[in-house]
Amino acid sequence: MLRHGVARPYCILSDGENAVPKVNEHYFNLKASYLFSEIRRRTKAFGDAHPDARLINLGIGDVTQPLPPAVIRAVHEAADEMARAETFKGYGPYVGYEFLLAAIAAHDFGARGVKVGLDEIFVSDGGKSDSANLQEIFARDSVVALMDPVYPVYADSNVVAGRSGPADESGRYAGFVYLPCTAENAFQPALPDRHVDLIYLCYPNNPTGAVVTREALQRWVDYARAQEATILYDAAYEAYIADAEVPHSIYEIDGAREVAIECRSFSKNAGFTGMRLAYTVVPKEARGRTAGGTEMSLNALWHRRVAIKSNGPPYIIQKAAAAVYTPEGQKQVRALVDRYMANARIIRDGLTGAGFTVYGGRNAPYIWVRTPAGLSSWDFFDTLLAAAHVVGVPGSGFGPSGEGYFRLTAFGSREETAEAVERIKTRL
Ligand SMILES: *Cc1c(COP(=O)(O)O)cnc(C)c1O
Repeated sequence: MLRHGVARPYCILSDGENAVPKVNEHYFNLKASYLFSEIRRRTKAFGDAHPDARLINLGIGDVTQPLPPAVIRAVHEAADEMARAETFKGYGPYVGYEFLLAAIAAHDFGARGVKVGLDEIFVSDGGKSDSANLQEIFARDSVVALMDPVYPVYADSNVVAGRSGPADESGRYAGFVYLPCTAENAFQPALPDRHVDLIYLCYPNNPTGAVVTREALQRWVDYARAQEATILYDAAYEAYIADAEVPHSIYEIDGAREVAIECRSFSKNAGFTGMRLAYTVVPKEARGRTAGGTEMSLNALWHRRVAIKSNGPPYIIQKAAAAVYTPEGQKQVRALVDRYMANARIIRDGLTGAGFTVYGGRNAPYIWVRTPAGLSSWDFFDTLLAAAHVVGVPGSGFGPSGEGYFRLTAFGSREETAEAVERIKTRL
């Protein structure tokens, strides 16, 4: 009902009962993500109080090195194509151009003896959006299992979809099944002790830097098959795997094609965090079921979702991604990853030498440090900042099982990384 007579343009007022649409109240279940704002706040307060201190940030989860030259050349060439009517590209395929799908299938899977069809690969603008969006094709009442500590996207996307209640004081959302990953279980979570429908696994892991063995991954696949669950496998850090026995793809595991969806990204290997390109593999064998019990192809459902909501990433960026698979591009990407991993080694060796207990940093750009003397994650943050002027990320910010740990990253410059380690060794 209009209460104020003539409505203003675009603004219809009523008695307040039903004037504006109701919002999605599941958003109110999200706990305030105060991790990075709190880091900024404490860092700024310290910087203001100590203007002469030269802070080194080893907390960043973003790459810092410029794009490989092969990628830059492809960007220029693709831009020139866009400048001529004969080679101009408008809308492309929703799922990505075939030249890129073919390069992905051949290099990321075929070269490792894994067969993935072009119609099983869906190119997108990011691993973040893919891992957030995949839950959309599953039922509202699906039970979600998450590693703890964890990349927050998996939890948050399911919270706003209404699959959880609010978080408790420890930060755990009601309704989710948490899989603690600590030094006590070598960061290898136990299988859930109840039925779950969706299992988010991330290997190599952000934030712990842990990897999964072939045997452990086989147990997950067997569990998913027995429970008729789906594994959402985030392999964004695949390029950092150095140990020969660590699986690069979940599809190296027997039976995985029936129960696993895998996400990859060009962000952390080729430095595409500002370019935006990733892909998701949904095998033809992967199945879900309707409420009535009819089996459905998850590949067909995801294809439908992509077709409805996307026109695919930009042509120029897809050309840039394809350049990653050229011999030159592969060499340059290898050099980028090696450069970050040399930083990881400097941090690992330096902190181990200084008496710290450290994990990760061998097959991942993350070093997961045990805080000394029973300090909480935030106490250690303050200690490190005050004594060494080094910024990292408190492990508790990634989940309750991250309490008592601290994340340092290998994405800094060589000089700053070495200096930060030197300061930690001498001042802590
Ligand atoms: C960085 C990262 C990604 C990749 O995100 P993009 O959106 O592709 O940049 C995916 N998963 C995890 C766990 C990450 O840390």
